[in-house]
Order: sequence, then C-alpha cells, then structure tokens
Amino acid sequence: MRDRLHVLWLQSGGCGGCSMSLLCADSADFPGLLQAGGVRLLWHPSLSLESGHELLDLLDACLEGRERVDVLCVEGALLRGPNGSGRYHLLAGTGLPMTSWVSRLAAVATHVVAVGSCAAWGGVSAAGTNATEACGLQYEDDRIGGLLGAGFRSNSGLPVVNVAGCPTHPGWVVDTLFALAADTLHAADLDSLARPRFYADQLVHHGCTRNEYYEFKASAEKPSDLGCMMEHMGCKGTQAHADCNTRPWNGEGSCTRGGYACISCTEPGFQDPGHPYHRTPKLAGIPIGLPTDMPKAWFVALASLSKSATPKRVKSNATADHLVVAPAAKKTRLG
Ligand code: SF4
Ligand code: SF4
Repeated sequence: MRDRLHVLWLQSGGCGGCSMSLLCADSADFPGLLQAGGVRLLWHPSLSLESGHELLDLLDACLEGRERVDVLCVEGALLRGPNGSGRYHLLAGTGLPMTSWVSRLAAVATHVVAVGSCAAWGGVSAAGTNATEACGLQYEDDRIGGLLGAGFRSNSGLPVVNVAGCPTHPGWVVDTLFALAADTLHAADLDSLARPRFYADQLVHHGCTRNEYYEFKASAEKPSDLGCMMEHMGCKGTQAHADCNTRPWNGEGSCTRGGYACISCTEPGFQDPGHPYHRTPKLAGIPIGLPTDMPKAWFVALASLSKSATPKRVKSNATADHLVVAPAAKKTRLG
C-alpha cells in the first residue's frame, strides 16, 4: 500500500485564517478525513503538539532527507523586510528568517502549495506601502517571481500550486491535497495563475442566489437589499474565479448569500482595489469592472433592455430586505 502524503505546514505573514477555515472542512472528524484521503500532517503550527526542539529536529530531518516532505504548505506572505534581510520574521529558536527556512524546504519538497492569497500573491499582508516587503511564494501580486522566483519548479516539476483565497475554502485545500495524494494534479489541472482549475475555472456569479436580479439589472442600493450587488455595491462575482456559490461555505453560505459583495479575494491585488470595497467604480454611469468575457457594448445594450423589461416583483424586491412581492401563481399545465 502507498505510504500517505507527508504534509509539512508552515505559517508566516498572515492572520492564520486559512488554518481556521481548514478546520471548517465538511467533516466532524478532521483527522479522520485527512487519513481517509491519504494525508499525514508531519507538522502544523496549530494542530501539532510538537514545538521547540522537537520541531527544529523535524525540520533538520526534512532538510537532510531523513524525513520525506511530499508537500510543503505555506500559509501567509513571505516577509522579506527590512531591506531584504527577512528579519521581520525569524523562526523562533533558530535566528534565521522564515524566508530562508521556506526556500530551503521548498528545494527538498516534492510539491509546494501556497495556502491562501497571502502565500500566493502577498495579499493583505502586502497592502498599501507594503512596509514588510511581503510577497507570495512565486508571485508578487500578478507579477511572477515572489520569494522562490519565476523559474522555480518543485521536485514534481510543478510550479507553486496557488490555492488562493482570503481565506481559502477548506474544500479547495483538502481537494488539492487529496489530488496530490492520488497523483491526479498535473500541470494541465492548473490555470494561468497556477490555481487548481477544479475551483478556479468557476465564477462566484455561478449559482449566486441573486442571479434573477442580475438578469434584470435589478440592483441593491444598500447593504440589506436583496438585489444584485454588481451595479452599486461593489460585487465582483462576475469576474472572481471561485466556486463559492456552487460549493457553499460550511455547506450553506457565501459572501453574496450573506449580503456582502464578492471582493474577488482569489485574485492577485484584490487587497488594493483602488476604490471602497462596497462601492462599484463607474465611468459615465457604467461599472468599470464588467463581467468576464463580456464586451462593453453588449453589456450596455443588455443592461438597458433588461431594465426596461424588469418585472414589478423583481424590481420591488431588489431594494427591500425581505420578499415584498411573491411570484404570481400560474397554471403550469398545457391544457
Ligand atoms: S450579487 Fe454578484 S455574484 Fe450575485 S448575481 Fe449579482 S453580480 Fe453575480
Ligand atoms: S465570494 Fe468572493 S470574496 Fe467571498 S470568498 Fe468567494 S471569492 Fe472570496
């Protein structure tokens, strides 16, 4: 029988939210879930008992080849500051920057996985003036490079696998690890930003419960409204690569279902959108960020046609916080 996938998990410049999210995986028995998928956690900062010298001994064993590292998971951005020294984050007890540990462990790992948008692109940790010189493992926003460099390939031949999201959906992490354990995640299964296509080939807009409002451009005007949040409330679900509305979080939720605009947290640079998250930037009244794959002229024509044909029910409900007009009852049989 094949040995289980050995996963080593390190954290650097992030909030730990991706680990919190992981614990919401769709299972009452998280250790049992990993075991069933063929995964063995060598070490995780929040889930493992070992610390201090026990951890340092394990890391040495990994570097010296006495312990196999099938997957190095990194959560959080890599902090290169101050002045490129990496000393904003030293691994306790070693005097060495985490950037050094990650670079050396990445060189011996079969696969390297960036867990979350901080580890993938820099994310929130790299926002604003980026005082800590934060970057992702192989990207800095949408520029290839990051800590490991554009040419980096793990020993499997793959680039860093970017399980981007802020936080990541637990299902995206678990399915990535299971696919690696089953040897079914290959280069063709990654998109142009090295995100697993099983979730990155979807849009948040797919399966959004507000789709009828979107069709008629019946828009929410304030946070509690039921209408589509694209026109006024900053929703980027038509551009964000993720399956949040077809694989709901915790089995039932998503940002848009909770009344919050999608801020496209799986995309590089989402942390600095250049406008308030809850407001849609417009030019001459037309949203600047149009749906992916849709030419501007089509959108304008379709929007004005849709608005002129909006049923009263949809229009009334769009700006209310509860259903005010129910669908009319109609006979559905032909005769
Ligand atoms: S709220 Fe966002 S995701 Fe939902 S239908 Fe509107 S644009 Fe699409
Ligand atoms: S709905 Fe958008 S902002 Fe929310 S988790 Fe999904 S991709 Fe991120």
